Amino acid sequence: MKLLSIKNLDLENKKVFIRCDFNVPLDEDKNISDDRRIRSALATINYCLDRDCSIILASHLGRPKGEFNPEYSLEPVAKRLHLLLKRDVILAKDVVGEDAKQKAQDLKCGEVLLLENLRFEEGETKDDEALAKELASMAEVYINDAFGVSHRAHASVHGITKFFDAEHKAAGFLLDKEINYFGKIVNNPTRPFAAIVGGSKVSGKLEALINLLPKVDKVFIGGGMAFTFLKQMGYNIGASLVEDELLEEAQCIMDKAKELGVKFYLPVDVIVAEKFSENAVSKIVTAQEIPDDWMGLDIGPATVRLYREALNDVQTILWNGPMGVYEMDKFARGSSKVAHFVADSYATTVVGGGDTADLVQRIGLDEDMSFISTGGGASLELLEGKLLPGVEPLMVKKDA
Ligand code: AMP
Repeated sequence: MKLLSIKNLDLENKKVFIRCDFNVPLDEDKNISDDRRIRSALATINYCLDRDCSIILASHLGRPKGEFNPEYSLEPVAKRLHLLLKRDVILAKDVVGEDAKQKAQDLKCGEVLLLENLRFEEGETKDDEALAKELASMAEVYINDAFGVSHRAHASVHGITKFFDAEHKAAGFLLDKEINYFGKIVNNPTRPFAAIVGGSKVSGKLEALINLLPKVDKVFIGGGMAFTFLKQMGYNIGASLVEDELLEEAQCIMDKAKELGVKFYLPVDVIVAEKFSENAVSKIVTAQEIPDDWMGLDIGPATVRLYREALNDVQTILWNGPMGVYEMDKFARGSSKVAHFVADSYATTVVGGGDTADLVQRIGLDEDMSFISTGGGASLELLEGKLLPGVEPLMVKKDA
């Protein structure tokens, strides 16, 4: 997929609107606990600054429900940007109100303005045309570098693109990298190609699994979703997470894998606990011997060894979803072990999904992966084979 490139834009001295994804985690004191999303946007911002642009940055943060709420102000983001860019960042008091409009109008070359949280405007998540038009009216050029929200048809990622022609809009470096990396991995991987899929539910990843099956050589299942498959295979899964309405789907996936010659791996042992708690009594059991009323919260050591063995010859690994309840130390071991051998492997390793990126970061292995996607939902929709609403308007049209 070829996207309109920032490199083909005439940016010299232009006023540029850059939609970023600054939706960063904040602690209770409003400190940014992980600024990866902000740092990922710097390449595009600096490229524009080098061309003497005046820059209007826009992002959402959290879910403020369409009205001003100081809890969700982008002030911490403005401070961090100031440190990272080593220049002043002007923070507007609103999104398309008087203050923002005036500041945007007065903006000079080399200056950076950050609009307040886009979701203070009700129209943002509704892809409201009037809001999109107001945002568009602030700048001469539009750049989308917000991969994490490009699967949403929102005013600042979708509606706004209608107001710029192909010479005045483009994908930023981050968006372009994400789309191309995923495209290359999924459509032209070095083989053998393995997908490790975990997380809570089959339902959230069903489409992605179905789309991946014809493309991969091996699939490794972990996390809560494994139990729907194990139940369908006739095992007692006790009180583990299960989606009974998807048992048939689970069977179809396993049948399809067999038909396509894809090696389909399920946990052979699990860590079970009496309740969903860090302090619960827990033990290792084989997948065949999960006691009634106990729930499986992590993959067991034999599964870790099996997965490591089977991943040995793999050249490309795509990993989406933790192997267990990694937020609790007691059930984080499976995910941590898998993260270590994925990081140590010589394969191209791509980590997608907010939780998986988070866990890899927590154990300090983010530098050892080939690529970590900044977008959870967006990367999943790409894997499902969908065209993202924020990306489609930025594709190079064949007849153009
Ligand atoms: P997802 O959003 O579908 O990627 O799921 C991520 C969540 O799945 C994490 O919060 C994990 O705690 C949770 N999870 C992983 N394994 C299990 C399990 N065996 N039982 C319940 N939840 C799980």
